[in-house]
Amino acid sequence: MKLTIIGHWGAYPEANEATSCYLLEHEGFKLLVDCGSGALSQLQHFCKLEELDAVILSHYHHDHIADIGPLQYSRQVALALKTTEKPLPIYGHPYDQSEFQKLAKPPHTLSFIYNDEHETKIGPISITFLETEHKARCYAMRIELKGKTIVYTADSSYKEEFNTFAKNCDLLICETSFYAHQDGKPYGHMNSTEAATIAKDASVKKLVLTHLPHFGEHSQLVNEAKAVFSGEVVLAKKGLTFEV
Ligand SMILES: [Zn+2]
Ligand SMILES: [Zn+2]
Repeated sequence: MKLTIIGHWGAYPEANEATSCYLLEHEGFKLLVDCGSGALSQLQHFCKLEELDAVILSHYHHDHIADIGPLQYSRQVALALKTTEKPLPIYGHPYDQSEFQKLAKPPHTLSFIYNDEHETKIGPISITFLETEHKARCYAMRIELKGKTIVYTADSSYKEEFNTFAKNCDLLICETSFYAHQDGKPYGHMNSTEAATIAKDASVKKLVLTHLPHFGEHSQLVNEAKAVFSGEVVLAKKGLTFEV
């Protein structure tokens, strides 16, 4: 599996960048995980929009879904130009019906509910879910293919269940919205120490800090995480790719 970071900002994108968005690829199959603000523009540096096979959304906060509308239009244009014949499936949870209902714009995009209690199969990729601690209903994803595993926390404050959920994964994409001395819990987010604690307790191979704050020096987040987790710690950056 190959993962490319398209957007890594929390809340809003900085100039020429995007909020939460990740591209997962395997043998030509392309799954977009979250589709935040600026994502559609940045994504085109890495793939054609009509090449996307599916989209999955962790939750319905703007920094994870802002570009869903333009993505629907892009598929409408692609179908009209016949650069693809396939509607785009968008997977979301059903616990916010007004948001879920917006995902389907047939015949351009179709909506699907992912089953948060069982494995959901999207193309060759298997995904299981963990409800996070957040202001809106949100799901972390354990993404598996051919014995390799990527875990994406989406947005959450620290919860112990991540230790089991992320156990032994090859890559942990963990939200890190705050520095070690700050408490993210009131906002439904984590700090660098909490991200690293999950990485350590789950014995993950590599930790990627993402959903980054708009203040401070991000290198400090890495130093703080390294003080807790002895494995590799990487700061999320647009265009960074990981092969697992
Ligand atoms: Zn967010
Ligand atoms: Zn959120």
